[in-house]
Amino acid sequence: MKFHPALFASGIRSIIRNENNMTGTHIYSTMKKCERGNMEYGKKIKKGIMLELLTFVILAGGAVWTKSYEQADIAANGKDFIKWVDFNVSYDALCLAYEMDVASLDQPVHLNWIELLAYAGAKCGGEFKESALKEIKAAGEKLTEEKVSMAQLAKDLKYYGYYLEAYSAVLDGYVGEYEVQNGASFEKCYGLKAFSPIAKTFDYRDYDDFGVARSFGYKRQHLGHDMMGQIGTPIIAVESGYVEALGWNRYGGWRIGIRSHDKKRYYYYAHLRQNYPYAEWLKEGAQVTAGDVIGYMGHTGYSDTENVNNIDEVHLHFGIQLIFDESQKDGNTEIWINPYNLVRFLRKNQSEVNKVEGTKEWKRVREIKTEDIKKGR
Ligand SMILES: [Zn+2]
Repeated sequence: MKFHPALFASGIRSIIRNENNMTGTHIYSTMKKCERGNMEYGKKIKKGIMLELLTFVILAGGAVWTKSYEQADIAANGKDFIKWVDFNVSYDALCLAYEMDVASLDQPVHLNWIELLAYAGAKCGGEFKESALKEIKAAGEKLTEEKVSMAQLAKDLKYYGYYLEAYSAVLDGYVGEYEVQNGASFEKCYGLKAFSPIAKTFDYRDYDDFGVARSFGYKRQHLGHDMMGQIGTPIIAVESGYVEALGWNRYGGWRIGIRSHDKKRYYYYAHLRQNYPYAEWLKEGAQVTAGDVIGYMGHTGYSDTENVNNIDEVHLHFGIQLIFDESQKDGNTEIWINPYNLVRFLRKNQSEVNKVEGTKEWKRVREIKTEDIKKGR
């Protein structure tokens, strides 16, 4: 069964219902005693009324609490899809699960890093402290040595299905088979095939700034990750996909929006360079390959007028949106996850680029081919 907040809300509702039943039983037994002529009759009736009031307050509170989820359900016409994801998988957990996946490629049991992370997520309530790393290792051992299947291992974990679907939506484009250019030919590889948004050898600074307050236009949360560097730093496509949005946006300035081929991830690259923001070949609908140079760092944005530098610090704003249903693409049901740990992880794979002399452009050194590119084309 898939888990989403609406189901969680119904769980809460059933807890509330039980509380109501308990209270009801209590009132009933009080009444019974009273009918027998108990001296405490009046007091107990009062107590019963108080309990009833309390029940009403709890139910009303619960109703308000669950209202937003119910509305989301109605908006979705009863379709069952994930409504919210907190992506708290740590950098260490990403590295560990990834290494176990790659190391077991040719073994009798090939471990799947997303399944390992989903298992730890379900075991640890989505929090990734030291204990989550232990869970990942223990699961790896059981799967490998005891030949237990993941389905058996996770059978009592109520939310495994939810975490698997949520983490798959985040990570599906990251690891797998690909071919990388080596001179005139291509070599088959397995491993990380998604790239850091910043080209190799280009310096940047960053810290975990997801969710901090922003105030241009109106007060809102920072739904992405800022990477500070030099004007003109080549910006790299993290994953293959197609250009869904391109142009000026009052907050993002010159920005690019790229949707993954499975349509579940929307990558947002903003504040690109004044006058020459994008790779020359880029246009709406264009197919992009992971590792391609797509644009250049700048500080445009925070302006209704196009091509204006209105941001003090030169940086890339990088955002990752998850889309389980197209109704979540725009509006107040959008799901943006914290890219910080992912970006740290992606530093393992930075695209090497060369300057195209006599132009403002940079180009990737090695092409790659991936399965999802073929599927998308
Ligand atoms: Zn930002």
